[in-house]
Amino acid sequence: MPVSGLPPYDEGNIFARILRGEIPAKTVYQDEYALAFHDIAPQAAVHVLVIPKGPYVSVADFSAQAGADAVAGFWRAVAAVAHKLGLEQSGFRVLTNMGHDSGQEVPHFHVHIFGGQPLGPMLAPRR
Ligand code: 5GP
Repeated sequence: MPVSGLPPYDEGNIFARILRGEIPAKTVYQDEYALAFHDIAPQAAVHVLVIPKGPYVSVADFSAQAGADAVAGFWRAVAAVAHKLGLEQSGFRVLTNMGHDSGQEVPHFHVHIFGGQPLGPMLAPRR
């Protein structure tokens, strides 16, 4: 049952296709819960995406529907990716977009990991 207000999961979305190996990606890390790969259009010196292996549209969908093992496994994978990339000392930013106002482009839950440089303010000032 999808979370209210969200579209159902689309098996044809680009990250589902990456998970199935139909589209190549520059993999950084993989375990039973998550896959991490470089963003195709990086917005920082390091810009990696981490996605759960299950079919979740967004953070709300994932948080509501995934089992406790999958949720814990995913977030441990996020930390493992940052560790593997050597970002813990310098710091990094984790971001997820959900729905219209965020501009979420790909309807498979993912977090962005940004790092490798000072990242500046979290958001552009409101106009
Ligand atoms: P969103 O706006 O949904 O939070 O972010 C989607 C991200 O996926 C964007 O940063 C975009 O550059 C990235 N992206 C879109 N298509 C592909 C692709 O085919 N391969 C990879 N590696 N990244 C992609």
